[in-house]
Amino acid sequence: MAFSFRHSALCGSLLLSAITACSPSNGDADFQRRKEHESTIHKRERLVHNARVLIKKTQLPMRNELLKLLGQTASVEVTHHQGKLFVKFLEQNLRGRMEHLLGVAFVTSEQMELLPLGHQSMAQYSPTLHTMIMREVTNVSEEWEAVSFTHELLHAERTLSKHAAVDHCEEEAAVREIEGQLLRALSSEEYPDLVEQMTSYAAPEDIAYPDFDRVFGRPFSEEERVLRDSMIHIQVLFAKERQRKTSKVPVSARLAKVYCDVEQAMIKESTRHRAK
Ligand SMILES: [Zn+2]
Repeated sequence: MAFSFRHSALCGSLLLSAITACSPSNGDADFQRRKEHESTIHKRERLVHNARVLIKKTQLPMRNELLKLLGQTASVEVTHHQGKLFVKFLEQNLRGRMEHLLGVAFVTSEQMELLPLGHQSMAQYSPTLHTMIMREVTNVSEEWEAVSFTHELLHAERTLSKHAAVDHCEEEAAVREIEGQLLRALSSEEYPDLVEQMTSYAAPEDIAYPDFDRVFGRPFSEEERVLRDSMIHIQVLFAKERQRKTSKVPVSARLAKVYCDVEQAMIKESTRHRAK
């Protein structure tokens, strides 16, 4: 995998445990709180760095806008009260400047579930909170965390520049198309050919992904494999849809429909899973 990061996922988690180990055991709440804020700021800096490395490897037309937006990120804490989420600055000198900054928060799974589709996503951009919300995860490597973060950054950039589609599926399909270039930047040169080859499979459930370990490297965990394969799966379905020449419907609308069907199936599957 021709992609280098400043820290490995393991190194990041070791650093966090080192910070915790520095805290006094007799419970100095202020000290503990400051250390937690520092570790959140560190996590945001690491994520921004990794996203910057990833974006620089692409030829995205909005590359400079994305890099500029990364430079305007600030660490915020998300709290919830009566089912609503609120953000709070962690860096004192930034208080009151939220309109010029893009918040980055790390939340628990419970907090994530307060967002639309929160139960199934690793990251979300909230235009109302003006914040990128990342689920705290330990079993996804920094590469794939950066892909999820950059996906949300694309929504943020499109929203702020008023290019975001009003329709959810249309907006998601547009960002997923760009995500294809992020996947390309992460993989070896074989990746586009493999996606193309996979369009010959008869049905989505026939698609098997062993070859992608070769082009992306082995996933860090089973969760990462699921995340990675679901992203590739959409790219295969999009490539397949683009090959259809008969339809008079514009390609963007067709891809939005493809995305909607995938999302519906995912919601159904996750609801079934949660009901167990
Ligand atoms: Zn999205």
